[in-house]
Amino acid sequence: ATPMSVMTGTGKGAQHGILIRNAEALETLEKIDTLVVDKTGTLTMGKPDLVAVEPVDGIDESEFLAAVAGVEMGSEHPLAHAIVEGARTRGVSPGEAKDLASTTGEGVQAAVGTLQVAIGNEKMMRRVGVEDETWLGSAESGRSQGHTVMFVAFDGRPAGKIAVADPIKPTSAKAIAALHARDIRVVMLTGDSEGTAQAVAREMGIDEVHANVSPEDKHREVEKLKSEGRRVAMAGDGINDAPALAAADVGIAMGTGTDVAIESAGVTLVRGDLTGVVQAIVLSRATMRNIR
Ligand code: ADP
Ligand code: MG
Repeated sequence: ATPMSVMTGTGKGAQHGILIRNAEALETLEKIDTLVVDKTGTLTMGKPDLVAVEPVDGIDESEFLAAVAGVEMGSEHPLAHAIVEGARTRGVSPGEAKDLASTTGEGVQAAVGTLQVAIGNEKMMRRVGVEDETWLGSAESGRSQGHTVMFVAFDGRPAGKIAVADPIKPTSAKAIAALHARDIRVVMLTGDSEGTAQAVAREMGIDEVHANVSPEDKHREVEKLKSEGRRVAMAGDGINDAPALAAADVGIAMGTGTDVAIESAGVTLVRGDLTGVVQAIVLSRATMRNIR
């Protein structure tokens, strides 16, 4: 592209809250045929609310929530914030936790009083010796509603479940329909479970879903699509999205996301919603057409 038309293109983008880092990003956007999106914070608001607190029979709900919130006080994860906030809203003060250990993509463990508390997904439960398949399967009904359901174990035994709901951004479905109209395939990657991911994807008409994906796997998934000959844009907001954003043909960061994501991306959407991806592609196509 000529420097002049690129400047006009990036200037127009900026007026609409689409910050394009360089000529290469603007040129590549035009050729994109696949958009990979992260779920939490990209398709959804990234501000989950605690919606269910379900201790097993014989465990008091307030004591259960106090222990859970106490452990989550020590975690930086958005799920942890939702749980601690939810406990406060319900008038429960977090218990005092010590010896916190978090496992990326699985959950957290700590001691609350004499109790060993573990919170997280199936992997975390198996890590602490919980193998009750019926109980582990009981999370699916919440997940089919798009909720993120987490398991809680006390001393290596099932203690209950908690669920959070992260509302979908109002603009996500429309943006995906607009991408489809331009023959762009939409692939969702998430660290969340299969059931939750499928429910969210169905609601938005997403073509392909990969759940239980670790941060390294997000990056690998982008590389794989590229090796299959796809031209890939990746939209994400988190630290865990940074390697995938950098690996994509064009990385698109949500302006509402982390600095690490923004630094790894060629495009930043100030308003942090997917409508900006559509606008960016339209802008790129118009700019490149002007040049030819
Ligand atoms: P995401 O990309 O969806 O944020 P992560 O890879 O961070 O996913 O986490 C994957 C899963 O691990 C979560 O859906 C949750 O079940 C579990 N998990 C991670 N951190 C925590 C935490 N602090 N408390 C409870 N569960 C957690
Ligand atoms: Mg995210």
